Amino acid sequence: MKKCMIIGCGGVASVAIHKCCQNSEVFEGIMIASRTKSKCDALKEKLQPTTKTVIETAQVNADNVGELVALINSYKPDVVLNLALPYQDLTIMDACLATKTHYVDTANYEPLDTAKFEYKWQWAYRERFEQAGITALLGSGFDPGVTGVFSAYAMKHHFDEINYIDILDCNGGDHGYPFATNFNPEINIREVSAKGSYIEDGKWIETEPMEIKRVYNFKGVGEKDMYLLHHEELESLALNIKGIKRIRFFMTFGQSYLTHLKCLENVGMTSIEPIMYEGKEIVPLQFLKAVLPDPATLGPRTVGKTNIGCIFRGKKDGKDKNYYLYNICDHQECYKEVGSQAISYTTGVPAMIGAMMIMTGKWNKAGVYNIEEFDPDPFMDALNKWGLPWEEDFNPVLVD
Ligand code: NDP
Repeated sequence: MKKCMIIGCGGVASVAIHKCCQNSEVFEGIMIASRTKSKCDALKEKLQPTTKTVIETAQVNADNVGELVALINSYKPDVVLNLALPYQDLTIMDACLATKTHYVDTANYEPLDTAKFEYKWQWAYRERFEQAGITALLGSGFDPGVTGVFSAYAMKHHFDEINYIDILDCNGGDHGYPFATNFNPEINIREVSAKGSYIEDGKWIETEPMEIKRVYNFKGVGEKDMYLLHHEELESLALNIKGIKRIRFFMTFGQSYLTHLKCLENVGMTSIEPIMYEGKEIVPLQFLKAVLPDPATLGPRTVGKTNIGCIFRGKKDGKDKNYYLYNICDHQECYKEVGSQAISYTTGVPAMIGAMMIMTGKWNKAGVYNIEEFDPDPFMDALNKWGLPWEEDFNPVLVD
């Protein structure tokens, strides 16, 4: 029996679990293991009557390698799909090494106290994974994830070299709150309040947060302001795609979101430095998370679409070529299908597909790899089949 252990039972995991249950030919068994077992049990109760996939649940503290090893040894999954938080990446990788089990995640490791995400910690596991004969697939969400698969696909089928990549992440959804985040608020706010950066001629160029702004007219959404952010896939794509001169990442934000964020920053609420409050140490950002709407509750209220994709500029047969690959996803359709909004959906579907690539042996090489290092074709087919169809444009409007 082919089995997958899913760690975490939040917004993204819930979508991935729904998708595994729709795909019971591959996912014959799943175990949902998370910190709060009641969430895993509630999802099992909802989904078990609808699927042939045999669902089990367990409580686990994924910061504890020993607990993870014991659980993996008792369930014996073919792959562990890590959909907890980036802080747990290394302990889960350690447990996979100890049990010789394949590993998949959607976000790179970030130490709790530095808000600086980079691949060096996980790339340091390469030799050990090679020697153990197991695969770690890093970044199998949308961005990182599908953006890397799009890049590998563009490289394989459309270019001899890609010189410029602009990744555009547009969320045209409206949840009706003055301020809320679409996924884990702590991770989201750490990401957007950090300095921006991009890679040009092999060097990182740093910007102030939200310093670089562009306006883009997105198909299915319309015109939106977008801002240059640091994003983790820039680091791996600049290494893995041939001929890169510059790679940037832009995300759209509405004015209300930015005004609230600025105010929260100004009063110190987004800080990750612990402070003393009534004799107890608290982290302001964690406290803020506790008072913001839970992203899991945004599904029924969010209307509109997302449009996420990559614009490639490079050369084919000596000629300049431009190519835009993107996906449009509708918040309400996602909610009807799996009870979540499009941000969780666009991450949870590729997470299921990444695990499927490993479980079916379509992607099979020992070591630690970013997603663009595998053959993109079976993943691109699976995106069309499992709810994230892609579109292409051979004459896109470029970003200056
Ligand atoms: P949530 O906060 O909704 O869910 C996280 C889950 O992990 C919760 O169920 C939580 O348990 C569980 N968890 C946290 N700590 C532990 C622990 N120590 N042991 C066991 N379980 C734990 O987050 P999201 O679903 O929004 O995000 C999940 C991941 O997806 C994150 O890493 C995020 O960065 C990534 N992501 C990637 C994207 C991409 O495109 N690549 C886009 C969006 C997100 P509890 O229920 O008890 O809180």
